[in-house]
Amino acid sequence: MHLLPLPAFTDNYVWMLHDGHQAWVVDPGDAAPVAAALDSLGLQLAGILVTHHHPDHVGGIDALRERLAATGGRVHGPSGERIPEPVERHVEGDTIDVLGRRFEVLEVPGHTAGHIAYFERDATAHPLLFCGDTLFSAGCGRLFEGTAAQMEASLARLGALPADTRVCCTHEYTLSNLRFAAAVEPSNRERADYTARCEARRAGGEPTLPSTIGLERAVNPFLRCTEPPVIEAARSQGARSDDAVDVFAALRSWKDRFR
Ligand code: ZN
Ligand code: FE
Repeated sequence: MHLLPLPAFTDNYVWMLHDGHQAWVVDPGDAAPVAAALDSLGLQLAGILVTHHHPDHVGGIDALRERLAATGGRVHGPSGERIPEPVERHVEGDTIDVLGRRFEVLEVPGHTAGHIAYFERDATAHPLLFCGDTLFSAGCGRLFEGTAAQMEASLARLGALPADTRVCCTHEYTLSNLRFAAAVEPSNRERADYTARCEARRAGGEPTLPSTIGLERAVNPFLRCTEPPVIEAARSQGARSDDAVDVFAALRSWKDRFR
């Protein structure tokens, strides 16, 4: 199985999984990079997974319908979000067969009210997570529709997945997120080492993704809301208590203002 991040717009990735014959894509905000990859690799489009309704995640769906029809493939997405129909709607615990692998649907509200993630726990390889705009490397999505309590719970849930889980998020925000992470935890050595690795990758024109859950637990301030240095930084930015939700809320609004 091959896993490819297809760059789209300025900083999106459309993730593609393929077996050399058939491909699935996640959050095709733009059809052009998907069509180009399918054609150059000689693949058929067998399905689409959607995490949430934002245009940069769904804008390319309709232009890919004809290719989907050729394989009888479907669009899968969350219930209760406005996504171009027809969509097969999914809730927590549903499973979807993707090229013979079983992905489980996790409801992770916060960025949007109905945001879902897709998780595959594979015994023979590292688990795979498509998490849209919920968890980013060294950061997280903005709270457009959900509450801080919802997002904190969603992130804590993703953060509890196996350490070797590959994290496939939808945006290349890693370096700017790491600038914020440095302000939160100046003395986090792993964050500093990771920043150097990501800078080298970007300088070479490579994606910083996928990351892993184990790495995110070590460097991502939004998964570290119970760590003393993160609590202290959040308190200095107005967190009302050491409670993880208060710490998360203070970090998130600090990040919203951070330049
Ligand atoms: Zn979004
Ligand atoms: Fe997005």
